[in-house]
Amino acid sequence: MPVLDPRTLIAMAGVMSLLMALVLGLMRRSYPPSIRGLGMWAMAPLLWVLSTALFSARGMVHDMLGIVGANSLLLMGALFQLAGTRRFLGQPVAWVPWATLFALTVGAMTVLTLSYPDYLLRVGVFTVSIACVYGSLLVFLLRRGDQSFPIRLVEAVLVLHLLVLAGRLYTLSTGQGGSDLLDRNAIQTLYISAYVLTTLMLPLGNVLMATDRLRAELEHLATHDPLLPVLNRRAFLQACEHELSRQRRTGRPPALILMDLDHFKAVNDTHGHQHGDAVLRHVVTRLQTVLRRTDVLARYGGEEFALLLPETPTDDACLLSQRLHNSLAQGHPLDCRMSMGATAWRGETDSLDAMLSRADAALYRAKAAGRNQTCTD
Ligand code: GH3
Ligand code: MG
Ligand code: MG
Repeated sequence: MPVLDPRTLIAMAGVMSLLMALVLGLMRRSYPPSIRGLGMWAMAPLLWVLSTALFSARGMVHDMLGIVGANSLLLMGALFQLAGTRRFLGQPVAWVPWATLFALTVGAMTVLTLSYPDYLLRVGVFTVSIACVYGSLLVFLLRRGDQSFPIRLVEAVLVLHLLVLAGRLYTLSTGQGGSDLLDRNAIQTLYISAYVLTTLMLPLGNVLMATDRLRAELEHLATHDPLLPVLNRRAFLQACEHELSRQRRTGRPPALILMDLDHFKAVNDTHGHQHGDAVLRHVVTRLQTVLRRTDVLARYGGEEFALLLPETPTDDACLLSQRLHNSLAQGHPLDCRMSMGATAWRGETDSLDAMLSRADAALYRAKAAGRNQTCTD
């Protein structure tokens, strides 16, 4: 393995960290506050830049800064990486034990640098501390079992880093650790390369994680109703198109039901709009208790809902609509009634538009026939 100049490697890491801190800092300003942890993620590479500057100034500044300061900032950056990731994933951060580990490490490093200088022991203490932080982060991520690419990437970087740390501890214990970080030997180069890679890849993983989350949030906003936990009309129509093309392969056609709350204007007029909203939420909850996992419920308009029932013949759709009426009628303070129009796919000459107008016509008939019932077409 070529032996690179450690100072060059460390300076490279500094530049990368600075860029990543900038990117994450800008993201924190522009991303919605629901994406948490970005501030801490930006702090980590920022601390690593400062750490890098102190490492590079070794020999020119007091060892308290060049050795203890540099390593402390590196460890603190790792702690911010851990804290940011936990916050991003909505988990609390146990500050007290980590602050204790940090204080103990800084104390030990100070003693082993100034009072009883011992390079090997110092490196050993630091390596174990930082391995605890990255190990804890790795275990936390693995336990969540998230399969997304950014998290897999961060896990891979952590595994690699921990392996190098283990290798470093091993060489220390066998007396091959060198006598100074800036020694030009293979294990030092490997260690510093792993450090450079980590300071670049962890923040990069953070950027990808945040972007992935933003994409998911925007997708949710674009496909879901703002008031109720159901799809919006656009996403519903997409789901229908998808189901219709799927049924051409499976040969098991879907049914469709349009529903409209009865006399809902009167509910609003009598009890107020807030009460009306509560009724709408209640209706969705009641409907969902009856539906299968594969059924697709959407808000089609103000107090109108649409229901796609994959692989369902008309008779089954009627039975289901009866169960929906029953579910809504079960005694509760938010009493509400609905009219429904059901239809099923009629073969190759049929279309989504035609299904929707048949369901709409059936719904109209249910209203005309006295409401709180289902008609089919
Ligand atoms: P019908 O039985 O014929 O359907 O009578 P209706 O009163 O339900 O029908 P209409 O179309 O006259 O009124 C629908 C009402 O639904 C009027 C509107 O204010 C209310 N509405 C629509 N969206 C919302 C909403 O998000 N929240 C609340 N509270 N009310 C809504
Ligand atoms: Mg209506
Ligand atoms: Mg209505």
